[in-house]
Amino acid sequence: MADVALRNISKRFGATEAVRELSLTINDGEFLVLLGPSGAGKTTTLRLITGLEKPDAGSVMIDGRDVTQDPPGSRDIAFVFQQYSLYPHLSVYDNLAFPLRSPARRVPEPIIRKRVEQTADLLHIASKLNNRATRLSGGEMQRVAIGRALVRDPSIYLMDEPLSSLDAKLRAELRLELKRIQLELGSTILYVTHDQVEAMTMASRIGVIRDGRLLQLGTPREIYESP
Ligand code: ADP
Ligand code: ADP
Repeated sequence: MADVALRNISKRFGATEAVRELSLTINDGEFLVLLGPSGAGKTTTLRLITGLEKPDAGSVMIDGRDVTQDPPGSRDIAFVFQQYSLYPHLSVYDNLAFPLRSPARRVPEPIIRKRVEQTADLLHIASKLNNRATRLSGGEMQRVAIGRALVRDPSIYLMDEPLSSLDAKLRAELRLELKRIQLELGSTILYVTHDQVEAMTMASRIGVIRDGRLLQLGTPREIYESP
């Protein structure tokens, strides 16, 4: 079980009100897409959930617990960015294993191996495990980046335009795969994008954000059939 509730959060940077009194619940097992133009406050909202930013007002609840003042590292959240952030000199296998190899986790190697192989299968990169990250195509690199989040099996995924650097064909392919994986694993995902097609294809619900405010919230159908 994992859910996130934002209660009336606001965040200002100097004169810019990046997020204004925003309330939103991401339900367990839901694929919620936050859709809005550049500068709408999407990334700030994600950073408020991770704890990388503290809100000026309002609270962040995870699984019913107020985590607003907790340090960022204490939350069981994985973040996938637009930039791949892979270790170029490591193999795909070791890139995927990396999050599990932190001394704090002490995951035994056979378990790491199993999880890495399962994740690679899920993302169709099992044949690339021995390649260096630099020898991959853009689409493969993005799969590895997504895999690094999946391998940890976090309770919540935050994704910030993870497909926007890919060409249209790959984007379409990975949209469907991400949706399939989310359904298969029952993951809770908050995905931000400015791309309406992404929102339409993947979301169980869409939140429309502009100027730091949540303007609409509903199923893709409700959003696109509303006047
Ligand atoms: P989006 O992700 O929707 O493009 P952001 O959340 O990145 O929007 O930004 C929302 C607004 O807050 C923008 O006007 C942006 O310039 C501003 N902003 C975001 N982060 C900072 C920061 N660290 N310092 C100053 N302004 C910021
Ligand atoms: P061994 O082959 O002796 O069992 P290890 O399991 O220690 O060796 O793995 C040696 C290297 O190969 C390590 O860098 C490990 O991360 C990597 N590795 C392990 N399993 C795989 C795999 N299925 N595909 C690619 N690399 C792997």
